[in-house]
Amino acid sequence: MGRRKKIVQECETLMDKPENIRNIAIAAHVDHGKTTLTDNLLAGAGMISDDTAGEQLAMDTEEDEQERGITIDAANVSMTHEYEGTNHLINLIDTPGHVDFGGDVTRAMRAVDGALVVVDAVEGAMPQTETVLRQALREGVKPTLFINKVDRLISELQEGPEEMQERMTSVIREVNDLIRGMTEEMDDIEEDWTVSVEDGTVGFGSALYKWGVSLPSMQRTGMDFGEIIDLERADKRQELAKRTPLADVVLDMVCEHFPNPVDAQPRRIPRIWRGDDELDVAEQMQLVDEDGEVVLMVTDIGIDPHAGEIAAGRVFSGTIEKGQELYVSGTAGKNRVQSVGIYMGGEREEVDHVPAGNIAAVTGLNDAIAGSTVSSEEMTPFESIEHISEPVITKS
Ligand code: GDP
Repeated sequence: MGRRKKIVQECETLMDKPENIRNIAIAAHVDHGKTTLTDNLLAGAGMISDDTAGEQLAMDTEEDEQERGITIDAANVSMTHEYEGTNHLINLIDTPGHVDFGGDVTRAMRAVDGALVVVDAVEGAMPQTETVLRQALREGVKPTLFINKVDRLISELQEGPEEMQERMTSVIREVNDLIRGMTEEMDDIEEDWTVSVEDGTVGFGSALYKWGVSLPSMQRTGMDFGEIIDLERADKRQELAKRTPLADVVLDMVCEHFPNPVDAQPRRIPRIWRGDDELDVAEQMQLVDEDGEVVLMVTDIGIDPHAGEIAAGRVFSGTIEKGQELYVSGTAGKNRVQSVGIYMGGEREEVDHVPAGNIAAVTGLNDAIAGSTVSSEEMTPFESIEHISEPVITKS
């Protein structure tokens, strides 16, 4: 069996275990390394070859995007990762990094429960860092931080361990100030969502050279800053990448620190859906009930040259299958599901069914648009997704 087929099968097995699912987005200011990091994760999960990660830009599916180096359409991929002896299904939604596509970022956030925010170590938090954080937090999506381009601090800026640490502390402080300011008035978030090295919610490294570390990974590998600096300076980046691969560190962080749908949905549903909470469907969504009524929130419409329009989105309740007749909010009548699938490295793979807690790619929903609520019973639609535009930021 081909490697890809095997991954699809693994994903299908894991789709029915919501505790082992993480729906995540990677979000960043443009050029901070989101695409390069994403390719590392795909390569780490065996989705694309190691050698081409960073060059292939797997998420930039459209030629135009590759030429312009901008990710326009939010693409989705699913991958598996073993953490502490348990296999996990990670559904990753790509978010556009460019200023003009803020609406797409917010839509992507609706589908996920965790957002890995990538910040360039040299530039620090930038206006879009604030925007993506705001988008994530408004949707009740938990952030973690990856400080990228640390190789530049070492090789270009010739910083020593102390200067590096100072710089990272200041990036973390900037990001935490933003998080604190935004979560202060959110009473549905009981946990402290600021990030910290000690908790393991901050990772740092180089997406370009494919190495990464976090406090837990450093404790595991015995690697410290001094050694990282020595290896990076000696141009032994391959050794660094082998000893502390970025994908493992980031995917471990994802599994450990992002909530699974069972933990996330009870908190997120009241925030994004204002229907009658006495209804069965309210409980089914909160419980991620795969036997409940079908509820899908469409976050993206893509075009496939063969299959036509594909509605991608988060299944909050029930199980989507071919042949179902589903209501589409804001339209009369029903649409018939032609096929259901998941995304693998930007390509759609058809599967038999997609249960609650997952990201599904559905054909046949011809009346759906990004933002539609698609359901087996007529229901109050999800809250509309607010576009958040760029803030005016003053940076000292
Ligand atoms: P995006 O706009 O956030 O998706 O950023 P990209 O992944 O396209 O990266 C923008 C530029 O930064 C590209 O030229 C990358 O090669 C470069 N880059 C990404 N990660 C790193 C890194 O860790 N170190 C260095 N030195 N360059 C990086």
